[in-house]
Amino acid sequence: MRPTWAEVSLSALQKNFQAITALLAGRAKIEVCCVVKADAYGHGAIECARALEDAGARWFGVSTADEGVLLRQAGITGGILLMSGFSPGEQDAVTQNHLTAAVWEPRQIELLNAAAETLHSAKHPSAKPLSVHLKIDTGMSRLGAGVPEVNQLLLAAKNAQHITIAGIFTHLASAELLDSPQTDSQLKQFDQALATVKASGLSPEFIHVANSTAIMTRPETWKNMVRPGGALYGYRLPMRGTAQPNNAAASFQLQPVLTWKTRILSLRSVRPGQAVSYGAAYVARAAGRIAVLPVGYADGFSRHLSGKARVIVRNQYAPVVGNVTMDLTMVDVSGVEGIEIGDEVILIGRGEGQDVGRSPGQSLSVTADDHASWAGTISFEILCGISRRVPRKYLRGSSENPRGSPR
Ligand SMILES: *Cc1c(COP(=O)(O)O)cnc(C)c1O
Repeated sequence: MRPTWAEVSLSALQKNFQAITALLAGRAKIEVCCVVKADAYGHGAIECARALEDAGARWFGVSTADEGVLLRQAGITGGILLMSGFSPGEQDAVTQNHLTAAVWEPRQIELLNAAAETLHSAKHPSAKPLSVHLKIDTGMSRLGAGVPEVNQLLLAAKNAQHITIAGIFTHLASAELLDSPQTDSQLKQFDQALATVKASGLSPEFIHVANSTAIMTRPETWKNMVRPGGALYGYRLPMRGTAQPNNAAASFQLQPVLTWKTRILSLRSVRPGQAVSYGAAYVARAAGRIAVLPVGYADGFSRHLSGKARVIVRNQYAPVVGNVTMDLTMVDVSGVEGIEIGDEVILIGRGEGQDVGRSPGQSLSVTADDHASWAGTISFEILCGISRRVPRKYLRGSSENPRGSPR
């Protein structure tokens, strides 16, 4: 197997899940819908969902019907919420696999109702109605019914005998802006939508708003279900603004779940003036050594990292030099003693040594946040950008070594 791989610590994932449930524990029962869309932010949806189910999770959030079907086929028995609904043509897969679709248009309810009717009369005459969650747009301007459109949806649902409205939710646009008035406005609109639903005599079982940041910073968004994604994988997006006094973010400990590693493929010496990689964007100033790593932008090691990123090898940082190529990346290892072909290199993760540049006691580390700031994006894009060519290796229990020391 090509020696570029990602280690996914399922016990770190479970600990992050437990940290979230512990935070919510002071309230009446709040269901955690674990967001495992986009192959669990690149960590592997099936393995992550299984580990989360073992830790007690009963709900999973995905984006597409395909993602939901994959989880069902893998034996996941919990609820599966299709947060981005479904496309016309997918309604049979939704009903057959007991997926809970987000809906925001009468047409979606009609399609699902017809599919459920066919299924129920053909195979399961006594089947329960298919659950859906109403998705309300309160300011994200992406998916969802506006507050004035809720009545139309309720009418469609009333005429759909095989459909139950089991939930209602919205998504926050600016949860990372801690004092954003947009969040207050979204919460108000959501309350209006909920009031309309209740006035029609319905009381949906699940009411939800909060993503990871809102869980950590705004308890008033918790309702009775929350939808963490990034937090499960140990990441939070950069927050700005002043937090409310009761926010839990400061004390909330998350562990990165993924470590990305490779091994040195080749070593070469360079003389002063020698150019490295495409376009000669890097020219060695002094004689030195360059390690060639078998990882490139086809693996998700972004070309935007060229000349910016650093890696950890033999418990030292080594800078990426020259342009990252499709399959290979060069790092300057001139200062690294005893370096050899085959040495393990940490692309994302923690090393053993102390980081003298940081606060005392901090070990060497490169995080997806570091990659994000070098590449001009956010950690989530880095994580789900690690391509399929990079095999995921799953670590379970206490035998694992999440710090990634050389073996
Ligand atoms: C992705 C997503 C989430 C999870 O967001 P995080 O910021 O990763 O916690 C929650 N809800 C919806 C609708 C999403 O699309």
